[in-house]
Amino acid sequence: MFDELIRGWPGEAVVIRYHAGADTWMFVALHSTRGGAAGGGTRMKIYPTPSDGLADALRLSEAMTLKLAVANGPNGGGKAVLAVPAIPQGEARRRLLLAYGDLVESLHGAFRTAPDVNTSEEDMDVIGERTRHVYGRSERGGGSGSTAPDTAVGVLHGIRAAVAHVFGSDDLRGRSVVVQGAGGVGGVLVRLLAEAGASVAVSDISAERARTVAAACGARVIAPETALAEPCDVLSPCALGGILDATTIPTLRCRIVAGAANNQLASREDGARLHRAGILYAPDFVINAGGVLHVVGLEMEGWSRERLDDALAGIGRTLTEIFGTAEAEGIPTDVAAERLAAERLATERTGDPAVPVP
Ligand code: NAD
Repeated sequence: MFDELIRGWPGEAVVIRYHAGADTWMFVALHSTRGGAAGGGTRMKIYPTPSDGLADALRLSEAMTLKLAVANGPNGGGKAVLAVPAIPQGEARRRLLLAYGDLVESLHGAFRTAPDVNTSEEDMDVIGERTRHVYGRSERGGGSGSTAPDTAVGVLHGIRAAVAHVFGSDDLRGRSVVVQGAGGVGGVLVRLLAEAGASVAVSDISAERARTVAAACGARVIAPETALAEPCDVLSPCALGGILDATTIPTLRCRIVAGAANNQLASREDGARLHRAGILYAPDFVINAGGVLHVVGLEMEGWSRERLDDALAGIGRTLTEIFGTAEAEGIPTDVAAERLAAERLATERTGDPAVPVP
C-alpha cells in the first residue's frame, strides 16, 4: 500500500523509519520545502494499519503547505506521524521521542516540527535533546509557550472580518456568538469576544470547563448536544473536526461559521452546502493559522511581538479578500481559499526542493 499512496501524492519526499523497540512506524512527509524547510507538527496516534498513518502524514502535510501559503509563512508544509501500537508513557515514551529526534536531526533542517495531537511542549523538550529543528518547546525548555492564545487572537480577527462582510461593520457589540469547546483556544476566545462586547454562549463536554470559562467573563453556558443548532450570528467551532456535514448543516441557525477546529468540513461537498445555505464559512486552514504563525514567527524567524500581532491581523485581511473573491465569483469560500493558496505557491515555487533531503 505504501507505494500507491506515495505515487499518488504531489509532495517532495517521505522519510520512513520502523522503530522495532517501540513497534512504531515513523513517517515524515515533506510536502514542500518552499522557503527553506517543511514545517509541521508531530502527531502520535494509534492507526488501524501503518498505511493509515502514512496516509494521514501525506494528507496533513499537504494541508500545512496550504495553511502556510495563505498565512504568508516562510515555510512549506510537512507533517510527521508516529504510528504507535499504544500511546507510550514514561521511559518508553522518552526512548521513542529520542529516537525520533535523531531521525529529525538526520534531515539537517529539511523538516522542522512542533506539537500536534498527543504530543506536548514537554515532548518537544525531549526531542530537542537530539535536534535543533524542533519548536513549540516549553518556555522552561527555551520555547515560546502555548500557541492557543495566539490562535484565538487570529480567530477573533477572522470573526471580525466575517461579521464586517455579512453585516457591514466589524463591531462585535451585540453580536451573538456560540463557541463550541472551552479548551485552550475556545477558553481565550470566549473572553476576547466578551471583552469586545459580543453576547457569548459556550459549550463543552466538560460542563465544569464551560462553567469556569463562562463565569470569568459573563458568558452563557449551553448544552453540547444543542450548540450547533443554537440561533446566533456566528458559530465558532473550537473543539472537533468533521462537524459540518449533510446532517448538521441543515440544522445550523447562524449566518457565519468561523472557528479554530481543524478539518471542520466532513467532505469537500460541505463547503458548497454551506454556500447554498447562505452561511459564510471562514475556511479553517486560514482562520486557525495563528498557532503556526506564533511558532514560526517567534521561534524560527525571530519576529517581534508587534510583527506577530500584525501577521495575526493579516488573517482578517486575507479572509476579507477570500470572502470578496467568493462573492464576486459565486463560489464557496473554501474553494476561493484553496485557489489563493495555489496562486501564492505558484508564484513562489521553484520546482526543486529548496533543501535537499539527505
Ligand atoms: P483543547 O483540547 O484544549 O480543547 C478542546 C475542547 O473541546 C476541550 O475542552 C474538550 O472538552 C472540548 N470538546 C470536545 N468535544 C466537544 C464537543 N462535542 N462539544 C463541545 N466541546 C467539546 O484544544 P485546543 O488547543 O483548544 O484546540 C481546539 C481546536 O482547534 C482543535 O480542533 C485543534 O486542532 C484546533 N487548533 C488548535 C490550535 C492551537 O494552537 N491550539 C491551532 C490550530 C487549530
